[in-house]
Amino acid sequence: MSRSTVSYPNEIPVGVDPTRASIARVYDAALNGKDNYKIDREVLAQVRTVAPQVNDLAWANRDFLIRACRFLVTQTGVDQFLDLGSGLPTAENTHQVVQRVIPEAKVMYVDNDPVVLAHGRALLEENEYTQLVSADIFRPREILEHPEIRDFLDFERPLALFQVGTLHHYLPDDAGELMKSYLDALPSGSFVAIAHFFDPETEPHGQLARKMEEKFLHSPMGSGRFRTRAQILAMFAGLELVEPGLVLCDDWWPDGPRYTELNLVRQCIVGAVGRKP
Ligand code: SAM
Repeated sequence: MSRSTVSYPNEIPVGVDPTRASIARVYDAALNGKDNYKIDREVLAQVRTVAPQVNDLAWANRDFLIRACRFLVTQTGVDQFLDLGSGLPTAENTHQVVQRVIPEAKVMYVDNDPVVLAHGRALLEENEYTQLVSADIFRPREILEHPEIRDFLDFERPLALFQVGTLHHYLPDDAGELMKSYLDALPSGSFVAIAHFFDPETEPHGQLARKMEEKFLHSPMGSGRFRTRAQILAMFAGLELVEPGLVLCDDWWPDGPRYTELNLVRQCIVGAVGRKP
């Protein structure tokens, strides 16, 4: 099916339809934030009927983002970050993690949610090394040719690009192609971090992933695809994956020993960091 013949619910501009939940606000609700409405919490309530621990998807994702930031800023020498789909400010945002280590590290946030943009602008007013622009991260050209992004980041030097907790909201099947447009534009030595809802294709996790997907897709948010390992690996095509490769978010360089077993929900989200040779 061609993209032009299909109407995807999450292509309606965010903030226009009051009966639709917002991805950013649903995520905020899952992280126990305060910037969400009843319609957003309703999405989680619906998914909770099949996955009581649904909030753990958000926590595993966010903790992966923070650890990936720490790794990139301390180990790779990269000092410019393009955080696509940055979300509502919460604790330990990308710029706070990386600028603690490199105060002049540049962070460009991109989102298209009006609530994110309002909160983000207020938070960043005083910080000359961090910017936030409104653009559609599922239109790579729009991002790669965006004058403010081109002015702020130097595409001749390695940078880190994040699609953390975003691509499962891109519904078409060509997410690998979408990422290819980004990867082609990155200079050698750049890094890419992705976290994505995961269908492990083995039971009982596979069945849970499919049930969660069904609920997300038919919820007032209308997006949340659980892709297979092969489909997610395709988003890193041509990159060298940093050890330990594509793994459960919780298994990507965890902060310490694990005393409790990962619940089934936490086994339905994976992440990896890749380096462009
Ligand atoms: N990356 C953050 C993290 O991992 O903590 C936030 C993830 S949140 C689940 C996804 C974010 O992507 C939301 O803030 C949402 O508004 C944004 N987003 C979704 N689709 C987008 C699009 N087409 N263009 C720009 N931002 C988008």
